[in-house]
Amino acid sequence: MILPVRIPHPGPDTCKVCDSRSEAAVAVDFAKNCEERRGIALPRTEAPIHYHRCYDCGLLYTRAFYGWSHAEFRRWIYNDDYAAVDTVYVSVRPMANGATVAALMKRNGLTRTLYYGGGNGDLARAIEARGFDAASWDPM
Ligand SMILES: [Zn+2]
Repeated sequence: MILPVRIPHPGPDTCKVCDSRSEAAVAVDFAKNCEERRGIALPRTEAPIHYHRCYDCGLLYTRAFYGWSHAEFRRWIYNDDYAAVDTVYVSVRPMANGATVAALMKRNGLTRTLYYGGGNGDLARAIEARGFDAASWDPM
């Protein structure tokens, strides 16, 4: 398997959120997934995914998939096997996060939100069910 991932330069980068300085932080195998804590591990790919961490806002991010097409994301990540390594994405996580996000919105006086990368829209619906205006957008 040859993954079309970008290997970033190892030095400082500019944060994708706040434009502050970030540094190389960690690299993990492409096969690392959410369910490893439950014993569901995929065969290692030997394709390292490098992450940077922002000094100011704390964002941990990668540029490894920059330039990927929707077809590449569907082939390598959001394929028919995705649910096996993210078992709670369909409804458990959106329902739980809906309560958390709605509470944060209430605390901060917010009434509207757009969930970018919102998957099937369940999180936005969970937020709406708590009286907020929420929309979801996902390119996949
Ligand atoms: Zn930042």
